[in-house]
Amino acid sequence: MAERREIKLKVASAYQRDVGRGIVRIDRKSMREIGAQSGDIIEIIGTKNTAAVVWPAYPEDEGLGIIRMDGTLRKNAGVGLGDEVTVRKAEVKEAKKVIVAPTEPIRFGHDFVEWFHSRLIGRPVVRGDYIKVGILGQELTFVVTATTPAGIVQITEFTDFQVSEKPVKEVSKTAALGVTYEDIGGLKDVIQKVREMIELPLKHPEIFEKLGIEPPKGVLLYGPPGTGKTLLAKAVANEANAHFIAINGPEIMSKFYGESEERLREVFKEAEENAPSIIFIDEIDAIAPKREEVSGEVEKRVVSQLLTLMDGLKSRGKVVVIGATNRPDAIDPALRRPGRFDRELEVGVPDKAGRKEILQIHTRGMPIEPEFRKGKVIEILERLEMNDAYREGAERALMKVKKARDEEIPEILRNTDEKLYEEVKARLIDDLLEELAEVTHGFVGADLAALAREAAMAALRRLINEGRIDFEAEHIPKEVLEELKVTRRDFYEALKM
Ligand code: ADP
Repeated sequence: MAERREIKLKVASAYQRDVGRGIVRIDRKSMREIGAQSGDIIEIIGTKNTAAVVWPAYPEDEGLGIIRMDGTLRKNAGVGLGDEVTVRKAEVKEAKKVIVAPTEPIRFGHDFVEWFHSRLIGRPVVRGDYIKVGILGQELTFVVTATTPAGIVQITEFTDFQVSEKPVKEVSKTAALGVTYEDIGGLKDVIQKVREMIELPLKHPEIFEKLGIEPPKGVLLYGPPGTGKTLLAKAVANEANAHFIAINGPEIMSKFYGESEERLREVFKEAEENAPSIIFIDEIDAIAPKREEVSGEVEKRVVSQLLTLMDGLKSRGKVVVIGATNRPDAIDPALRRPGRFDRELEVGVPDKAGRKEILQIHTRGMPIEPEFRKGKVIEILERLEMNDAYREGAERALMKVKKARDEEIPEILRNTDEKLYEEVKARLIDDLLEELAEVTHGFVGADLAALAREAAMAALRRLINEGRIDFEAEHIPKEVLEELKVTRRDFYEALKM
């Protein structure tokens, strides 16, 4: 057998539309070098080995020597953004059997297993890989616990695919968080800063030591509720492979007399023992209000305990405390002195582009059925006529579409060229999300997540009303999972609530 050429590439983040599909993108030059073609399976070697289907990079990535892979694949390869991986064409065997287990207890039926299996056909997996799947606006994480044969295997329709009832035991705390940077929308600049301020020192404390720079001990995230502060803290912990401990200001304060400080000491101890670690303190203003505001004895003692613990952090850079608040001015100034929470980042309300990104994230894997309105479809087809890959089909479809009624359009496109249909549909979905981003002015991430969830529920309710699902049934049947289509009307229905 010919020797498999390998090359090194730098890890970059995936495009939103690729997330969760088990694909990576590399440029044509790299593909040639390893002798791979679009659709082939490649092996990705970081600190762990994994595999993915390779697709060609977008033109702007040509020659950059990067591999675009989503957070789950990065986790599977044990690498972070900016790290290096070795890639080569994989030796793949057909999966006879694959067993996956959820990372948290869930209830599911046989139909779910079938549906899940159908979504994974063609997907290469390796034992230990994480797989995320979106269902009804919710995301579930599974771990591949066994494969037959071993090594890189590709799931086919003949694979004996099993989902175990018991959640995996030894998932590390961070892995279970599963949140990646691609799960956060509209905060590109903030993520960039968080990476420099928190991820870099956690991963490479030696760089800071050498340069004589003090890595931050505390970072304050401020902004309205539901904008993604907790999400950001979880993502950075996950991406830096750091231990994550979350506590909540009001909860700490409600402990019995004397127990609040004890709890804080425990948290810091756990963090140091498991370093690198992130301690996330939500609603930190409850612990450390401005002294003139509330001068209770308890608050004073808890603040001073927190400060003592932060001053005493030995593992420079390896434990970072992230505090979150929506009232930065209500915080005890002593907390914001150098060596404490001396960095601040604003996590603001998203603008329209941010809202669209967040909607893309929360509708990932959601079966959206856009409206094929004639005027719009014609506009899209005319643009696609300029594109070599679609020119001929677009020309043919255009003639027919011009004479057709709206409801006939999907069928016409499908009959012309399945790929053309998919492309038009993707663009219509994009337009719908754009429109929704426009009308949701003032919504924060949590509102948009709820909107997506509610739209899926509205679609489900529609099927129930049509008598297509048995309300009493314990599990949603597979046919329903397959037939469920979330429409523009469902989103507007959800907006009314
Ligand atoms: P905060 O900590 O700022 O109050 P969270 O991070 O807890 O907000 O957000 C709550 C939920 O809202 C998240 O779990 C996520 O589903 C959604 N969400 C919030 N902000 C964003 C965002 N910027 N991008 C994507 N989803 C978001």
